[in-house]
Amino acid sequence: MTERLVLMNPGPVTTDPRVREALAGPDMCHREPEFGALLSRVRTKITAICGGTAGHTSVVLTGSGTSAVEAAIASVVPADGGLLTVDNGHYGQRMHDIATAYGIKSHRLELGWATPVDLAAVDRALADPSLTHVGLVQHETSSGMLNDVRAVAEIAHRHGRRLILDAVSSVGAEDLDLEHVDWLAGSANKCLEGAPGLAFVAGRRAEFERLGGGRGYYLDLHRHFRAQEAESPAFTPAVPAFYAFDVALDLALAEGVPARGARYRALAGRLRDGLEDLGLKLLLAPEHRAAGLTAVHLPDGVGYPELHDRLREAGFVVYAAQEHLAAEYFRLSTMGDMTAADIDRFLHTLGDVLRGAR
Ligand SMILES: *Cc1c(COP(=O)(O)O)cnc(C)c1O
Repeated sequence: MTERLVLMNPGPVTTDPRVREALAGPDMCHREPEFGALLSRVRTKITAICGGTAGHTSVVLTGSGTSAVEAAIASVVPADGGLLTVDNGHYGQRMHDIATAYGIKSHRLELGWATPVDLAAVDRALADPSLTHVGLVQHETSSGMLNDVRAVAEIAHRHGRRLILDAVSSVGAEDLDLEHVDWLAGSANKCLEGAPGLAFVAGRRAEFERLGGGRGYYLDLHRHFRAQEAESPAFTPAVPAFYAFDVALDLALAEGVPARGARYRALAGRLRDGLEDLGLKLLLAPEHRAAGLTAVHLPDGVGYPELHDRLREAGFVVYAAQEHLAAEYFRLSTMGDMTAADIDRFLHTLGDVLRGAR
């Protein structure tokens, strides 16, 4: 048996043993009917976990979460359209960078990291008729901030614009449904607790059918949609990751999104109380915190590399903050197959590190 690591990095997460065991499934050719059936089953479960109804569908990609965000942006914004990117952190900025890389007009509404979305500014920016789509991140994993999807969707739709949502670190745990989101990008290995290697885009079936002539080749959503509708993927998929995702989606559907969100929030609440008891400061005010991540100020006198290594020795993987937050903060995820006992043991270990006892 290898050591059980508690992954407190925001994906890939600690997985249920049944998900890991599924990875060792049989060799399979992706052009045989058994893969076609697996593909369709996984797509149906993804659409369900995203809150989709009969008019919705999804497309699975072999790639990390960014492949889904990129496929959505590159495939759905028309040649004469543009993207309003709501940027309050690293992943909002990434949506802008993706659009720019494809030569798509992107108006970056730069709000500042860990700053709540300014809804009036979104409304004003949409006075520009060339901005046909709005790009938003539900859970900005750079800070742990949960953005208000419904409020932004309501503004976008009032202006007749479509919403592209990066739900990579929220789908499966946060309140979400495809009535409000036109294009939802997600991945298998965060709140859905699958193995890394798969990502997906969900939306209305009619809109997938209308796509065509998107930018790019490998990430062209319409190409993938057409192929997957015929139960034969466009390119060689990560077959073992499909086995694992099939099982992980069953577990997610059985638990239910509200219950999973409540489980993560209970873990996060326990963690946050314990961190504050240890005298550590949290980045965000309580009302802005997502269930799956907590950004914490680094303790005085202990640098991130040392903190990481002491905790790693005790079986916990913590995660650095990004860019300008990295000097002062680190991040702790509460996504995945984690227990209250893991949190208690983590806090105990961290207490030892802070006292210089480790
Ligand atoms: C993890 C994450 C991504 C994708 O990152 P990958 O490394 O491509 O999996 C995108 N957006 C958000 C909000 C994320 O947390």
